[in-house]
Amino acid sequence: MAQLQSPLEQAVVTHLQTVCQFRHALSRKGHWTGIARASTLFAMSGTPVNSLLNFIGGTYVEGEATFDKISPVDGTAAATVHVAGSELVDAAVGAARRALGGPWGRTSVADRAKVLRRIADRIEERFEDFVAAEVRDTGKPVTLARQLDVARAVTNFRSFADIVSAKGLDSYLTELPDGRQALNYALAKPLGVVAVIVPWNLPLLLLTWKVAPALACGNAVVVKPSEDAPSTATLLGEVMSEAGVLAGVYNVVHGFGPDSTGEFLTTHEDIDGVTFTGASSTGSAIMRAVAPGVRPVSFELGGKNAALVFADADLEKAVDGLSRSIFTNTGQVCLCTERVYIERPVYDEVVGRLVARAGALKLGRPEDPHTTMGPLISAAHRDKVQSYLKLAEAEGADVLTGGRIPDLGEDLAGGAWIEPTLWAGLDNSSRVVREEVFGPVAALIPFDTEEEGIRLANDTKYGLAAAVWTQNLERGHRVAQQMRVGMSWVNTWYLRDLRSPFGGIGLSGIGREGGHHSLAFYTEPTNVCVQL
Ligand code: NAD
Repeated sequence: MAQLQSPLEQAVVTHLQTVCQFRHALSRKGHWTGIARASTLFAMSGTPVNSLLNFIGGTYVEGEATFDKISPVDGTAAATVHVAGSELVDAAVGAARRALGGPWGRTSVADRAKVLRRIADRIEERFEDFVAAEVRDTGKPVTLARQLDVARAVTNFRSFADIVSAKGLDSYLTELPDGRQALNYALAKPLGVVAVIVPWNLPLLLLTWKVAPALACGNAVVVKPSEDAPSTATLLGEVMSEAGVLAGVYNVVHGFGPDSTGEFLTTHEDIDGVTFTGASSTGSAIMRAVAPGVRPVSFELGGKNAALVFADADLEKAVDGLSRSIFTNTGQVCLCTERVYIERPVYDEVVGRLVARAGALKLGRPEDPHTTMGPLISAAHRDKVQSYLKLAEAEGADVLTGGRIPDLGEDLAGGAWIEPTLWAGLDNSSRVVREEVFGPVAALIPFDTEEEGIRLANDTKYGLAAAVWTQNLERGHRVAQQMRVGMSWVNTWYLRDLRSPFGGIGLSGIGREGGHHSLAFYTEPTNVCVQL
């Protein structure tokens, strides 16, 4: 006897049919290419140029124009990216809306958890494809892409499968004075069509950190990856299809921000919310864009993160943690430390050790397993970082190490390379100590008392993360709690439990991601009150 199919399994059977209909509609408009895969080849820089397509309604479609994605490693063209204009953005939002009205909108939590686990399995099977795509876009060391970016993408899907499965109903029994009772329970309905806009620094990690909970909660998404890192979001479309994700549930549109794909998406009247990770100024622009429709936003924005090193810290551990927090991913992690306040008795020692650690970093081709620091993401970003290097000198910085464009030979001369850089002699009045640089740089500043250290660390409009280094447990708790940030670490950095809240205050964002905090954004609670 044939086994009964769950609603989702039945829906997967109709999946191909839907894709065919959508292809037909797009081919009449001249967009559909008939290409079933994101591109012909995902490989590291130096290999033939790929063509990266949009992924709409379960199929890959060409754009109205193209641009070249340039390798930050050597300046060669790494891929041709197809831009989605307003018509394709509209098609993607329409595909997402239709998906919500179809079988996907009726899936159970258990079925969605199964889908998420299948996606994780497929990413794992194609692990090296994702690593190659991420490395090719960003130039980050292949070891980092393996250990952090792609590994976390797998974990994001698995952990949200667990988290959504464990979520219970929000319910109350109301007891009225006259003895009557009412049962209240809140349904967690999907938010709807969610616009997902992500940056280039941890492209797949940050994308899946949003897509996994969005899908877990039953939403359909339209993703706008960064123009500087478009590959892994595109490749994820293949994985979605292979994992049986229904057409239209996951869509990708490529392009730029203002007056382009990003703005077309955030101003589209049929989206139900925007989740965004990127610069604070872009967050502001998106808030203005969604204001007329009063759409909810979740923002993970910039940071100017501080570390406080007390004289009683385990200096070996502190220096190890600090050098990771300053230089990981070439300083291009929102959580990176750009301000280090060091208690005066150990200032010289910590400075000396940090300079030595910076000098030991190995810049080079990402595929070399000995490489520990890659380039910045682009020539434009290097121009920005370089302008801060010049500004630091103009503001009186003592450049302890770095400060220049390194000479890595003719082979890499076209890349966006910069030296790891440490400054002394600056204080909180300097612009380079106040503004986010987003590069491998930090200002090292002495302090004399706990109160002064706390005051200096909190003297910023940002409020993402802080790290406190001390062996005094009481002080660790006391100082960590006084940091005006969303996340404080004591004697570590970037240690994450994915159920814990992630996000910032002030210019660093609105809302929290992680565990039930993510589920709260991606659902609309609808209360039902039944008098018993
Ligand atoms: P960005 O804001 O320039 O771009 C991010 C994304 O927004 C890109 O996809 C871009 O095309 C799009 N975009 C730009 N303008 C837009 C507009 N007007 N409307 C719609 N979309 C628009 O940021 P970036 O340079 O890609 O990333 C670096 C920034 O991201 C840094 O400030 C960093 O601190 C921040 N960041 C924050 C976190 C966090 O979790 N808090 C994580 C990573 C990066």
